[in-house]
Amino acid sequence: MSNNDKWKAELSELAYNVCRLGHTEPPYSGTLLHNHKKGSYHCVCCGAELFDSKAKFDSGCGWPSFDLANDGAVKYLEDTSHGMVRTEIRCAQCDSHLGHVFDDGPTDTGQRYCVNSVSMTFTEKAD
Ligand SMILES: [Zn+2]
Repeated sequence: MSNNDKWKAELSELAYNVCRLGHTEPPYSGTLLHNHKKGSYHCVCCGAELFDSKAKFDSGCGWPSFDLANDGAVKYLEDTSHGMVRTEIRCAQCDSHLGHVFDDGPTDTGQRYCVNSVSMTFTEKAD
């Protein structure tokens, strides 16, 4: 079985399209958008821990947003599709498409990681 067939079998159709084909889920559709629980956000494909709930903020853009990624968890690629120059973010471990990062964040880091909800799973943690 090719890698692609494996992902197709394991992921929902939307998750496959987003994570493996680089599509974007419709804004305001994600189940993690308004999740304010304490915990960690993981790659839906490989389980790598990508973001901590402490970094999450409400950007109003319609996708879960973070001002910081976990060290080394995310890799950055230039994306020139749709007539824009953006920075694509992918899981460093399995290359799954996560979303984009912008340098207009409202917090101290200045970063706004705009992430597809379907690219992630959430694990709640007690304090
Ligand atoms: Zn991954």
